[in-house]
Amino acid sequence: MPETFFVGIDGPAGSGKSSVSKEAARRLGFGYLDTGSVYRALAWHVLNQGGQTTDPAAVEAGFATFEPRISLDPDVRTIAVGETDVTKAIRTPETTAAVAGVAKTLSVRAKINDLFRQIVADADLPGVIVEGRDITTVVAPDAPVRILLTAHPEVRAARRSKEMGAEDVAKVAEAMRQRDASDSTVVDFLNAAEGVTAVDTTHLNFDQSVDAVLSVIDERREEGRDGR
Ligand code: C5P
Repeated sequence: MPETFFVGIDGPAGSGKSSVSKEAARRLGFGYLDTGSVYRALAWHVLNQGGQTTDPAAVEAGFATFEPRISLDPDVRTIAVGETDVTKAIRTPETTAAVAGVAKTLSVRAKINDLFRQIVADADLPGVIVEGRDITTVVAPDAPVRILLTAHPEVRAARRSKEMGAEDVAKVAEAMRQRDASDSTVVDFLNAAEGVTAVDTTHLNFDQSVDAVLSVIDERREEGRDGR
């Protein structure tokens, strides 16, 4: 089986990374791995076992019995833990609040990263777009395509508000700022690392953002074919 072509896409909330990654995967016939949903599923699992995600031992214990099954189809966004479908449960405020604890448990991050690599390697697909924080730097620093999607903070807040149907952009901006700050204590997802292509979507609409990502991917695939 040929190696699955790995595309890593990083970026802060509101940069368009989920919707753009999904659409790019659809157009290429690639899979799409939303790594955030795996972090959320583990947070759900820890809570379901009666643990707190602020307790590293509870997160470790949760990971030991964590059997996620995630769809890589960009149009089928389901995730299960064992036999339980948690697609909806991972989006509740309770799980959302608990996920930061999981993200901060570094010993478990390393294991989750291995899990992501394994999921891609096992995928029976020409390629997978793997989206999430520190994918381009820690999970797959050697991936053929590594992209950082960025956008001006005001544009990101406006997009998030629209997505959420929220009226109060300032409130959304503040929540986003706090979550970015919390996440950035663990990973740097605001600056492009060496060898990572930054795609700034501040002045791009959705289709233009997808095209920008596809052209980076095309270029790298051409280089790969030419053996460059
Ligand atoms: O992308 P999403 O909002 O679903 O991610 C939820 C949380 O999971 C993030 O705020 C972050 O704390 C954590 N996460 C992470 N590394 C990833 C993906 C998500 O730390 N690759």
